[in-house]
Amino acid sequence: MVLTVIERNGDGTPTAESAEVLAAARDLAEQLGEPVAAVAVGDAGDLPDDLAKRGVAQLHLLQHELLAEGSPSCAGEALAQLVAAQRPAAVLAPGTDRSTEAMAWAAAELGVPLATACTEIRPGEPWEVTRERSGGILLEDAALDAPIRLATLRPGAPAPSETAAAHEVTVHVVVPDLDTSVPRARLVDRQPRAAGMTLTTAPVVVAGGRGVGSAEGYAVLEELAGLVGGAVGCSRVATNNGWRPHADQVGLTGTRISPELYVACGISGATQHWVGCMNARSILAVNTDPEAPMVTRATWAVIGDVHEVLPAVITEIRRRSGR
Ligand SMILES: Cc1cc2nc3c(=O)[nH]c(=O)nc-3n(C[C@H](O)[C@H](O)[C@H](O)COP(=O)(O)OP(=O)(O)OC[C@H]3O[C@@H](n4cnc5c(N)ncnc54)[C@H](O)[C@@H]3O)c2cc1C
Repeated sequence: MVLTVIERNGDGTPTAESAEVLAAARDLAEQLGEPVAAVAVGDAGDLPDDLAKRGVAQLHLLQHELLAEGSPSCAGEALAQLVAAQRPAAVLAPGTDRSTEAMAWAAAELGVPLATACTEIRPGEPWEVTRERSGGILLEDAALDAPIRLATLRPGAPAPSETAAAHEVTVHVVVPDLDTSVPRARLVDRQPRAAGMTLTTAPVVVAGGRGVGSAEGYAVLEELAGLVGGAVGCSRVATNNGWRPHADQVGLTGTRISPELYVACGISGATQHWVGCMNARSILAVNTDPEAPMVTRATWAVIGDVHEVLPAVITEIRRRSGR
């Protein structure tokens, strides 16, 4: 059996990342001659019908009040109990923060390794995986030698193949053995994303780092982003200093983006930041240091103070557009 971890949208359907993992699980199961099973948290809803079209034969529904709090340690413990009972050949999960953390807990509990951010899985003796390292700047080939292979897949890696023939999905409700000592984190609030332009959808991202100097310093970046129909981003220094929310952070531990234009203001271009913006079509760096990595890698650079350069750019855009 190849067991697939399903994350669900608000309406109970599998997320896009889970759909990708289901497609990869189907390919892997075919190679192994094994069935595809799925595990999800909560009630069935329309999930069995949806999974039937994706080649799934069995659905395990984990139900426990502690799972509703979103704690990865609880999800990991519940998953470990299911895996220990079912002994699948492999467990595949989306490479999202949430599933990766739950899988890490499960792996630790089961005493087996976890291969994260895989782009390819090749069964054999031993199994081999190709996985992303350092935020995607290098690919690693590794052996995955374990009785049960646990892997997360890098979101966006496998293109979902066409819909598989509909199966009859057998649903099993599983109540894991959890107590209040298991959760290490608790969901206290949900904040919906602001509607409209987001870092990932904006064609232009105007981002600021330490060089912006303060939370108030971002007003000029907001103004420029507004003028060019873009969004504001930032480096981790800005989030660490409380200048911007984490949702604005670009990079390894933030968001990876690929806008048409990335304007990096007072950002040095450390590797952990660079992996978040390196897929931009073009980059304009504004920096006082001509040797900063962001400047040397950018498509264009302006060597100067952010608070002098950006107001001048804004004035010129307003003059040319008559705004
Ligand atoms: C595990 C890990 C994960 C990380 N994840 C991320 C991540 O997701 N995103 C991220 O950004 N970082 C991340 N970091 C931090 C990263 O290593 C850098 O420390 C960070 O990106 C530096 O931010 P910065 O460029 O704003 O600051 P600095 O490196 O201090 O650079 C500031 C730049 O501003 C320029 N400058 C100063 N004053 C001005 C001015 N007035 N006008 C114009 N330019 C000026 C300077 O010349 C300099 O180039 C991570 C680090 C680790 C260890």
